[in-house]
Amino acid sequence: MNNRYSRQQLFSPIGQAGQQAMKQKHVLIVGVGALGSASAEALVRAGVGKLTLIDRDYVEWSNLQRQQLYTEQDAQEKLPKVIAAKNRLQQINTEVAIHVAIMEACTESLLPLLDDIDVIVDATDNFDVRFLMNDLAQQHRIPWVYGSCVSSYGATYTIVPGKTPCLRCLLKVMPQTGMTCDTVGIISPPVQIVAAYQVAEVLKLLVGDDKALRKSYLTFDVWQNQHYEINVDKIRQDDCPTCGHHPTYPSLAYENQTKLEVLCGRDAVQIRPPNPTHYNLEQLADQLRPYGDIHMNPYLLSCQTEEYRIVIFQDGRVVIHGIQEIQKAKTIYYRLLG
Ligand SMILES: [Zn+2]
Repeated sequence: MNNRYSRQQLFSPIGQAGQQAMKQKHVLIVGVGALGSASAEALVRAGVGKLTLIDRDYVEWSNLQRQQLYTEQDAQEKLPKVIAAKNRLQQINTEVAIHVAIMEACTESLLPLLDDIDVIVDATDNFDVRFLMNDLAQQHRIPWVYGSCVSSYGATYTIVPGKTPCLRCLLKVMPQTGMTCDTVGIISPPVQIVAAYQVAEVLKLLVGDDKALRKSYLTFDVWQNQHYEINVDKIRQDDCPTCGHHPTYPSLAYENQTKLEVLCGRDAVQIRPPNPTHYNLEQLADQLRPYGDIHMNPYLLSCQTEEYRIVIFQDGRVVIHGIQEIQKAKTIYYRLLG
């Protein structure tokens, strides 16, 4: 026996009973980039019983500035993030069972992971996966904690099926910027802050202290010194297809998922979002300018990087020239367009 959790048990909302309860719980973290690294480390140190990590990427040098579980050696070896993460996390706490999946998060990969999951942590970098999580979490009645970071800005919100409005309802009133870490960059403080808020919410859920959960949508900017908590009690829509009276879980339907296809003989991959999007090409050009040379006409925008050329049409269709792998195309797509 050791006393590794003694200080946490002294904290009365957790106590010995909470610590015991936590040991029986299973948390799923979707994505182990910056947010996922921070949450995973905190939860492993806190003594959660089981942790499942899913991520498709490998460790790159540009990750090391903010993704706290990874080392230069991981980047040199291009280790899959979940493997590098597991290695480090087991060094921290051998008592936690860590299960990993080197996969793209999609309906087919997430569904089998949900079996005995108590809480889901959102640590992904795109809204397609978040909408999937939103539908799956509602369908399976699993609470989940949304988190996002870009630049010096962060946001988080706790979603409890049956009790709070869902992500779809939230985004109707809180439109997102479309900025990504690859276009406007990111510093590490907002990552640590969002992850800390997410982990606090997860701990409350794990020990059953639901009344302590934060009910608001929280957003801040550490560079502009802004901090807002927005009351979202009234935003739930009765006809929401996810959390409304007659849910259809639209993100889980095949026809509503983002489609990728290799264009034969063209060394290119085409990506079609499920719903026609209307891109503001001027704004997008400003966003992508640091990334490569931009060419524009009224119908499309093209950005030439060292490795590939990405062409974005106004209706949301995207063609990435210079690559043939679907996985890689997906990574680039979400990095640039969020
Ligand atoms: Zn909803």
